[in-house]
Amino acid sequence: MITKPRGTEDVLPKDSKLWQYIENTARDVCDLFGYKEIRTPVFEHTELFQRGVGDTTDVVQKEMYTFEDKGGRSITLKPEGTATLARSYIENSLYANPQPTKLCYIIPCFRYEKPQSGRLREFHQFGIECFGASSPSTDAEVISLASMFLQKLGLTGISLQLNSIGCPVCKKDYNEKLRAYFEDYKSELCPTCLERLEKNPMRIIDCKSEICSRIAEKAPKMVDHLCAECHDHFEETKERLDNMGIEYTVNPDIVRGLDYYTKTVFEFVSDCLGAQSTVCGGGRYSGLIEQLGGKPADGIGFAAGLERLILVLKAQQGEQAGGDNTPDLFVAAMGNDADKTAQKLIFDLRKEGVHAQQDLCGRSLKAQMKYADKLSAKYSIVIGDDEIAAGKCNIKNMSNGETAEVELSVDSLIAKIKE
Ligand code: ATP
Ligand code: MG
Repeated sequence: MITKPRGTEDVLPKDSKLWQYIENTARDVCDLFGYKEIRTPVFEHTELFQRGVGDTTDVVQKEMYTFEDKGGRSITLKPEGTATLARSYIENSLYANPQPTKLCYIIPCFRYEKPQSGRLREFHQFGIECFGASSPSTDAEVISLASMFLQKLGLTGISLQLNSIGCPVCKKDYNEKLRAYFEDYKSELCPTCLERLEKNPMRIIDCKSEICSRIAEKAPKMVDHLCAECHDHFEETKERLDNMGIEYTVNPDIVRGLDYYTKTVFEFVSDCLGAQSTVCGGGRYSGLIEQLGGKPADGIGFAAGLERLILVLKAQQGEQAGGDNTPDLFVAAMGNDADKTAQKLIFDLRKEGVHAQQDLCGRSLKAQMKYADKLSAKYSIVIGDDEIAAGKCNIKNMSNGETAEVELSVDSLIAKIKE
């Protein structure tokens, strides 16, 4: 038997309602905030991520699905959304519209990681990006969108962790301080972090190895070394979140995994996911658009992992999370003529938005009723030649067994179901 590749998942019919619920909630919230959906290719030129995500990141160094296509080009399956959106923003001159450009997306992402709960090789992200606005009000809007999305999903036990990682100006001095600090622990750092020490020491704070993270605990914190502009930006962002009643904790150890972040970074963390606890992460960046050949423009955005949201929703709300999709009415039929009438009736009911079902497998009447039970139909009727001749039938409430006589018509059936 051929099985699915390691680290991938089938979304089975029992779960698709939950996926649609999350996706619809995401789209509804984006509509309210004026973020428009953008759809981009599943694969891009590898160089886009090398330049747009950064050579010192785990994603680019270890996790990308990169291959040569038949034309000899190096192609990579999207590991994330931001670089692609930046490319599209430049390529399609979206900067020529009134700014900012507010975009949202739901995409599959591919990263060659060690599969475990909440960590897959193909996973899905809902994300937004706002290009062309550098005000703290933008940071506050982006964070408030994420907050409303998670709240609308009905999740509990989610906390917002906020930090500022400064700009190239304050990062320069800070990086020297960091380097001096980690220099003393050179013999203990992991090989990747030794490399980071040269290229991007802040990345060490993000290392998942136990030893490195223990060393990093006492390292100097960026929030304590912000330049005046970054300090004011951070204060104003926090004030605006306070003003909207959005709670957060300042966490100096949130540095985010991608190279291009500046100033505000944030994560929404769940208390019920163990190691893979970040359900949504994002931040502000400058330099990315320029790095990709566009006219300088700032951006800020986030991405939420849908599989992790599903894990939290199921843990908190059980298998029924996302709502049910059980039939309003099951129409059982006796004989082929009645079955034909049933099919036409069901078709007409469906036109009116009623979820109606019938048997398609030639079951006996008794087996049809068993099947109606299995489908958890809310009501059922049985029709045969007599019911058709009389234009009447008995409708049964499947949860309490009560029956009532109704006219065999779309209108009266709907009236009864809606009662
Ligand atoms: P982590 O620290 O867990 O590896 P990350 O910093 O690499 O996360 P981002 O690049 O910020 O993650 O992606 C945004 C979100 O996408 C994460 O917060 C998470 O919810 C989700 N995500 C990232 N990688 C995976 C994965 N391999 N499988 C499932 N979800 C993921
Ligand atoms: Mg990662």
